[in-house]
Amino acid sequence: MDSSNIIEINDLVFSYEKNKKVINNLSLSIKRNKWTCILGHNGSGKSTLSKLIIGLLAPRTGEIVVDGTKLSEETVYDIRAKVGLVFQNPDNQFVGSTVRDDIAFGMENQQIPRDEMIRRIDTYISKVNMNDYLNQEPHLLSGGQKQRVAIAGALALDSKVLIFDESTSMLDPQGRDDIVGLINHLKDDGDKTIISITHDLHEACLADQLVIMKEGKVIATGNPQDILIDKELMLSAGLDVPLPVKLSERLMEEQIIDELYINTEDLVRALWK
Ligand code: ADP
Repeated sequence: MDSSNIIEINDLVFSYEKNKKVINNLSLSIKRNKWTCILGHNGSGKSTLSKLIIGLLAPRTGEIVVDGTKLSEETVYDIRAKVGLVFQNPDNQFVGSTVRDDIAFGMENQQIPRDEMIRRIDTYISKVNMNDYLNQEPHLLSGGQKQRVAIAGALALDSKVLIFDESTSMLDPQGRDDIVGLINHLKDDGDKTIISITHDLHEACLADQLVIMKEGKVIATGNPQDILIDKELMLSAGLDVPLPVKLSERLMEEQIIDELYINTEDLVRALWK
């Protein structure tokens, strides 16, 4: 295994029902200490893939290797200690009667010393801007607040790999920007690999590696800059190209700019010149 990859997936096949492959001979490498974004139309198999990676589902054939360990019945708990998953619907994840207990619960399972637990709760609850809600019951929070708490809980476990499955879908644009900014900084904290599953093209622009899924397969992987401007590829995956790409296409026709931009900031800068 190439040591620059923390996860390697080879020829994975999975079906919920007979004769319907939801994951169809999928192979993928995830780069260590980088942010990989997985983009795909609804039903392309993204959530199923994330559940397969942490062993919540078992593949029919193929293999998943995480940090040098092949996923199997025997290794599933070692793998789960390395890979944290924040689900799309955080309600499925809460176990504590208060926000504080909930974040502490996962750490108690890992037998983290009390002082360290308190330090991590303080650190991560403020990173997600939820300091005022530590004594609140999780089920009384709004959808977006629940997502923030679920993210703090996952961060507190200090896993090497963190998978965010549509974890910002319930947040307002400001909240989404805050969390995306946080994700962006996480990989700079050292030994951390981020995988985010999203529909959000803006989030996809910021990742180091972009993976496009279609019908249970990976149809493209590479730099967001190269993939997001490929209209044919994006349309074939049932996705749109980012708005700045459409705008810069028009501006190129008018000979106002001479290349395509995937994000608004760069496009505005080019126009300013
Ligand atoms: P995505 O995350 O890309 O939207 P999913 O992995 O959730 O895709 O779903 C992929 C396919 O598997 C879809 O066709 C979906 O209907 C089907 N599917 C998902 N979960 C189940 C399940 N528990 N039982 C049967 N089919 C499922």
